Amino acid sequence: MFIHADLAPATNQMGGREAAGSAPSFSMRCIVPETIPPTERTRVVREAQRGVYDRESIHKILDEGFVCHVGFSANGQPYVIPTLFARVGDALYFHGSAASRMLRNVADGIPVCVTVTLTDGFVLARSVFNHSMNYRSVVALGKATLVDAPDEKLTALRAFTEKILPGRWNDARQPNEKELKSTSILRLPLTEVSAKIRTGPPEDDVPDYALPVWAGVIPLRLVPGAPIRDERCDASIPTPAYAAHYRRS
Ligand SMILES: Cc1cc2nc3c(=O)[nH]c(=O)nc-3n(C[C@H](O)[C@H](O)[C@H](O)COP(=O)(O)OP(=O)(O)OC[C@H]3O[C@@H](n4cnc5c(N)ncnc54)[C@H](O)[C@@H]3O)c2cc1C
Repeated sequence: MFIHADLAPATNQMGGREAAGSAPSFSMRCIVPETIPPTERTRVVREAQRGVYDRESIHKILDEGFVCHVGFSANGQPYVIPTLFARVGDALYFHGSAASRMLRNVADGIPVCVTVTLTDGFVLARSVFNHSMNYRSVVALGKATLVDAPDEKLTALRAFTEKILPGRWNDARQPNEKELKSTSILRLPLTEVSAKIRTGPPEDDVPDYALPVWAGVIPLRLVPGAPIRDERCDASIPTPAYAAHYRRS
């Protein structure tokens, strides 16, 4: 389930001792991933070997996540607001009511920090101190700007819908002029961005490996339940496949 295992140097994917003890190895395909150079602000400091800066890996994490957290400061107070988002090319789009504090403030062009987190597993070490999580996360910094062009607005809205439920955009009624007006869309170029990935087993202190304590990983994944028909939905309308067999790819 973990991404780009055959693309990047091993030191970019495997945390801790495993990576430290092994030489960087490349796959037979020798594909060199395109890197978004880390800046002073986006270089991962702690467990730096878990920092990932290649565009493909970053895009894959963003495309698998559907909720981002947008951090911004207004009148000296930091806010971190969860919201839906989509990536289109090298930009992130997020949206909300034109009246929301986030949109009112961020639309003026203030700096934002957008994070996306995928939780892949609980890591149970032999000591409490070394417990951890397997995860893939992205941090993107920059200035988000308001999208004015109706075409770009529609492209972003379509991307929000299609990334979660491919096929839904064409099945449902599409936004009318009034709805489009009341929805603000913001665009954040992916120019200053980092990913951090932890995979693999626990990393215990050497003497602790002798302890009679269970250790390992509990994998986590998001599992959809069976769809629940709205009681006002005509019973003759068939449940679409994307609802009946919903899958996160
Ligand atoms: C689910 C989850 C649980 C975590 N639990 C812990 C924990 O319990 N304790 C702990 O110390 N850390 C934890 N982390 C890691 C944490 O996110 C930070 O990476 C770490 O605390 C600080 O790293 P730093 O000193 O390099 O970051 P900072 O100096 O704070 O950041 C420097 C730059 O590194 C990049 N960066 C830092 N962290 C991330 C990240 N996670 N993803 C993408 N880019 C990043 C950003 O661009 C940031 O601007 C967790 C991460 C996740 C996703």
